[in-house]
Amino acid sequence: MSNIMQTGRLMPASYKTLATILETLPGALFVVDDAATIIYANINAQAITGATQEELLGKSLWRGAPQLVSTTLYQAMHKTKQSREPIEVEYLSPMTRTWLHVQLTPTLEGVLLHFHEKRESTRSWETFSPEHHLAADILENMYISAGFLTPEGILLEINEASLADAQIRREEVIGLPFAETIWWTPYPASQQQLRAAIARAGRGETVRFETTVHPRKGMDLHLEVTITPHRDADYNVEYLVYVGADVTARKQAEDKIRDLIDAIPQMVWIAGPDGFATYQNQRVIEALSMTHEQAEGNGWLAAIHPDDQQRMWEAWQRSLRTGENLEMEHRVRDSSSGVYRWHLIRSVPRRNVQGEIVDWVGTCTDIDKQKQVEQQLKESREGLRMLAETLPQLVWTTYPDGQHEYTNQRWKDYTGFIDEQIQRDRWAYLQFIHPDDQERHQARWLYALNTGELFEDEVRIKNSQTGEYRWFLTRAVPVRDEAGRIVKWFGTSTDIDEQKRMEEALRQLEQRKDDFINMASHELRTPLTTLKMQTQLVRKRLEKQAQHEAAAALSRVEGPIKQLERLIGELLDISKIQVGRLEYLWEPVNLNLLLREIAETMRQTHPGYTILVRGTAPASLVGDRDRLGQVFTNLLHNAIKYSLNTTTIEIDLSASDEAVTVRVQDHGLGIPHELHSKIFERCYRAFNSSQRTISGLGMGLYIVNEIVKGHGGSITVDSEIGKGSTFTVTIPRRRDS
Ligand code: ADP
Repeated sequence: MSNIMQTGRLMPASYKTLATILETLPGALFVVDDAATIIYANINAQAITGATQEELLGKSLWRGAPQLVSTTLYQAMHKTKQSREPIEVEYLSPMTRTWLHVQLTPTLEGVLLHFHEKRESTRSWETFSPEHHLAADILENMYISAGFLTPEGILLEINEASLADAQIRREEVIGLPFAETIWWTPYPASQQQLRAAIARAGRGETVRFETTVHPRKGMDLHLEVTITPHRDADYNVEYLVYVGADVTARKQAEDKIRDLIDAIPQMVWIAGPDGFATYQNQRVIEALSMTHEQAEGNGWLAAIHPDDQQRMWEAWQRSLRTGENLEMEHRVRDSSSGVYRWHLIRSVPRRNVQGEIVDWVGTCTDIDKQKQVEQQLKESREGLRMLAETLPQLVWTTYPDGQHEYTNQRWKDYTGFIDEQIQRDRWAYLQFIHPDDQERHQARWLYALNTGELFEDEVRIKNSQTGEYRWFLTRAVPVRDEAGRIVKWFGTSTDIDEQKRMEEALRQLEQRKDDFINMASHELRTPLTTLKMQTQLVRKRLEKQAQHEAAAALSRVEGPIKQLERLIGELLDISKIQVGRLEYLWEPVNLNLLLREIAETMRQTHPGYTILVRGTAPASLVGDRDRLGQVFTNLLHNAIKYSLNTTTIEIDLSASDEAVTVRVQDHGLGIPHELHSKIFERCYRAFNSSQRTISGLGMGLYIVNEIVKGHGGSITVDSEIGKGSTFTVTIPRRRDS
């Protein structure tokens, strides 16, 4: 140690000799100048670094001999230069993982360093900052980038994790300005950030910044970098500790959330505890057409409708003061159209564990559409209410369970009920329904409520003022939502009292008429039968007495008697039909025979007419022979009666598996189209001038139709004025019942 000390004082003449000695010394020997540039390296020094003398000379020790570099060495160099005293230190080389023992001796212009490799640490030597080693060990094993830099930013140590990221060896970077290393060179902006940070840290500041580095192809790391200056005993910056925490995942998550928040149609913002906006998503910027800077603070207020600004501002201030959630509606100007649209603003404070407000998170949702719909709904509801109030009916709505929701004024006036009374009990209103109607009404209403079917009932409702019951037609329809669920019932009660009374009166008239016809036909039939029998008896006697002239005169009376008999028969039939007592005697009927018999009888009574019967039907059909005979006799009678200038009547008979069809065709007057259905009504006659002279009561077709229906069949007419009529009767061959 002491002989090395003397080297500094040797004369230049003996330099060569000295150099030889130095070469033979065990261990690696370096001489560096004040800037740590190697000015001498012995054979062992060349061996330990694997470089030639030429390669080493002129290079910085940090760069030329990375195998030896450590922060401890750097510190020792620093100390030696300052104290001008020799120092010995021992440390573990970060690169070779071997223990090195080094003696540092100040020279005139620099330092002489003498290294010895050792198997393990010998505690007898003083080492610099044992905490430093501990820290270095920890850093080595942590997945964060960490290293030590000279105050100028030369990389002294770097941990394994950083090297692994960049897939390089330690010696490739040790001794280089950190900003010039592979992590930083690809991104000049990051490089710039680092340089600035090193400069500030070199002046004693702890610097933090976030940046992106690119250690290797395909890998970007987002780092949260901290550079901390380490000071010596004199408070000078000795070296810098660099730590880069990988926050890529957090950054990506943040970016994703930010993108997401930017993409949502709501405006989202964050404000500090003082209410000053610190963040706005893209939507805010678009909607307000302001830059982030303009919108910050309370710049956003400018976009609020002037009428809402004061209210908005006060509510916001109140929230800030009380820490309560803010929720209010206000109008915001849409920057593209200049139109104000309604928005719902919500703001909620976020608190830390101590319960202090950290920030306010706010959203602003466009509810203009909703507002409009609400308004329309309000208007339409108002409209409906007005309509309901002006309607002459009693109008009411109920909930799906039948509980009254609304009744119009007319309803209240009529029943004398007030809202509270009917809303208390859904059956309360039964009080003013006629006792005879209550049970049925309640059952029907319950049925409608349960099935959702239309409700309809005629009830007597008591007028609260007169105490009188009046008939009402009560109807209710279910109102359904989009999903088809019943949301309410809409009901009306229409006063049909007048109508009811008229109907009743009419019914009683009609009843009397029916009674009269019934009575009259019975009253007429008895004397007529006597008359008919007596006439026949007298005629037969006269014939026996050969008083032929008198007998012929009497036989002429028989025609009108028969006609009268038929008319009275029809009257009787009608009254039977009225009470549903037209009875049938079912038996097999041979229509072929029946029709030909009827035709033959007609030919005899109406000799001037040609009555043709064509076609055949299957042997038999089940029906009432007399009644069917009545049907076709009647049709033939009409055909003859309404053929004034023509004399041919055709009857066509045909059959299918199911039914027999009979057509009775004349070429007479015809019936106007619009009356085709009317002529089957009771006592209906299609009057026209030519017909007025033809007698009749309009009962025939009514009875015919009834009989055909009684046989499960049908009758239709096809007719044209002046061309004649065809009546078609279809009767099923089998009776269903
Ligand atoms: P009535 O013959 O006694 O008037 P119906 O009930 O038999 O009563 O007939 C009803 C009406 O139908 C007749 O008044 C007549 O106007 C019309 N009508 C019925 N049959 C014929 C027919 N064959 N040709 C023209 N009109 C007919």
